[in-house]
Amino acid sequence: MLISKELKELVEQYVSKHRSTEVGGVFIGDANRFDMFVPIPNVSVSPSSQYEQRREHLQVAQLIAEMISGEIVGGMHTHPSGTVVSEADLKWLESTGHKFGVVVACKDDGFEWFCLDKKGRNQPIYWTDEHSEMVALLLAKKMGLNDLGRVMITPSGELLCEGDEAKELLMLDRDVYLVKKQLEGRYRWEQPSRKELSEKCGLSAERVRRAMKKIVTRKEVAR
Ligand SMILES: [Zn+2]
Repeated sequence: MLISKELKELVEQYVSKHRSTEVGGVFIGDANRFDMFVPIPNVSVSPSSQYEQRREHLQVAQLIAEMISGEIVGGMHTHPSGTVVSEADLKWLESTGHKFGVVVACKDDGFEWFCLDKKGRNQPIYWTDEHSEMVALLLAKKMGLNDLGRVMITPSGELLCEGDEAKELLMLDRDVYLVKKQLEGRYRWEQPSRKELSEKCGLSAERVRRAMKKIVTRKEVAR
């Protein structure tokens, strides 16, 4: 598995901020390399010894993966006590359905990374120097997501990120996109009514209402 040193550092920075509980997330990339890491909150009732994700949070990560034309290839969680991978981790990997499972063990003098495949075999990790030429990472940088540790899904499922472009992108869903297309380039008084929008976008009135609300919220955020 190829992981850039840059990404390794970002992940370790994130992990070192949370050393009393298990933290984790997913890696986006392909079968040979991880390009991006999205932290996902731990919702386990015993977070010091267990890592559990909420399905809705994973769906947000999935959306980010689609936006950068990648896929979620690996799950990750930490072992704050520094223990190595065990059978329990293989079971965890099976339950996630991801191709790879990464465990980052916190040691006194740094971090030890383990990458398991579905058969429980340890995959060697190669730390590479190359980073900026990666399309996915470049795109992430352009959108202000360069400090990937700052792209964060809060326990309530909201995305925290820096930069207006990133906010715009991450808040965009298909309904908002459709409604936005209809409103683009029009003055306020020329804007179609909700009923018209509903017909033109092929969405229910309720979905138009929700999309409009997001558009208004976004404008407020951008200010
Ligand atoms: Zn574990």
